[in-house]
Amino acid sequence: MRVPLLDLSEQYRTLAEPIRQRIDKVLSSQRFILGPEVEAFEQAICRFTGAPYAIGVSSGTDALLVILMAMGIGPGDAVITTAYSFFATAGCVARVGATPLFVDIDPATCNLSPAALERYIEKHCQTDAEGTLIDSTGRKIRAIIPVHLFGLCCEMDPIHVISERHGLEVIEDAAQAIGAEYHTTHMGIRTAGTMGEAGCFSFYPSKNLGAAGDAGMIVCRDEEFAKRLRIFRQHGMEPRYHHYFIGGNFRLDEIQAAILDVKLPYLASWSAARRAAADFYREEFTRTGLANRIALPAEPYRERGVTNHHIYHQYVIRTPQRDALRAHLTKREIGTEIYYPIGLHLQKCFAHLGYKEGDLPETERATGETLALPIYPEISREAQRYVVDAIAEFFG
Ligand SMILES: *Cc1c(COP(=O)(O)O)cnc(C)c1O
Repeated sequence: MRVPLLDLSEQYRTLAEPIRQRIDKVLSSQRFILGPEVEAFEQAICRFTGAPYAIGVSSGTDALLVILMAMGIGPGDAVITTAYSFFATAGCVARVGATPLFVDIDPATCNLSPAALERYIEKHCQTDAEGTLIDSTGRKIRAIIPVHLFGLCCEMDPIHVISERHGLEVIEDAAQAIGAEYHTTHMGIRTAGTMGEAGCFSFYPSKNLGAAGDAGMIVCRDEEFAKRLRIFRQHGMEPRYHHYFIGGNFRLDEIQAAILDVKLPYLASWSAARRAAADFYREEFTRTGLANRIALPAEPYRERGVTNHHIYHQYVIRTPQRDALRAHLTKREIGTEIYYPIGLHLQKCFAHLGYKEGDLPETERATGETLALPIYPEISREAQRYVVDAIAEFFG
């Protein structure tokens, strides 16, 4: 049996007709840039996430970039984030001329650890005469980017306590977590991306809500900031041919927005189906006694009564025998992936930042142990049993 890591062909089959009709509508209208489809989809995202404002952009990466640009973060500034993420998280910080500062992860969830964040600030930062938090080299720390990895929100309450204490912006990288919920103490249940000053989503085709190409979205809660984001999305231009800022072309196009708008009504049920598949993996791993040999994904918010506590963008297990297990599963024609094999702090392009092996021990341990198993809404229980049996066979 062949079990791919991700298979969206069935999903496309059921939506092919309505998607084609909506694409046809755009083609007939001959309106391709910033028209009614983008506006409708932005409003649909506001309703889905509970965010007051949404701004469609060209990708998840560009969503992060535009947020940083609109916040005026640049040379001399620093942004604290995790090294256990997709490259874009830190890449965008560097692209605006600021410095990414990495703190370690919580080994149970692989998300940024609030305790490590607190320790980092205590040990390496101080407050200057104006009350600004600065690092040991005098850079102004402007923001924190928590990444809701694999579809699970970070522990946002303690992150907020820290950001408020030091006057830092919170930019949520929710590229993998659209719709995932977290129970905040002050705002009740909130969805990923709507707990900080701004949040970003990616509609890369393999994300839970995928476009037919590149697409992304920014959400925020301040009207003035939303206006600024819209201006930066289009060359810092307002009105036409008057440029107050240096922005860029970061627009979401009409065809992608139309396709995403057709798919969005199904997203909640798709994520619920992923969660049901994750429950089945857990049952099977428990039944076969494997739950003691491999670490299954943590579900810290389930006990707190959160329904959409995890959207399982990825189902990631951990074992020190990861590479051998992966080779075994490949032989059994089971698709797997390693998210991520190298911490961002050890990437060659960040060598000038001066990080070395051992600086982020939990991140480095995770890069050697995590393995993503096949998961998608339509995965069959038979396929999942085959995956679990193959893992059982490996551990003998
Ligand atoms: C996918 C992803 C991005 C970037 O999104 P693109 O749409 O591919 O540009 C950023 N951060 C994380 C954590 C992601 O998974």
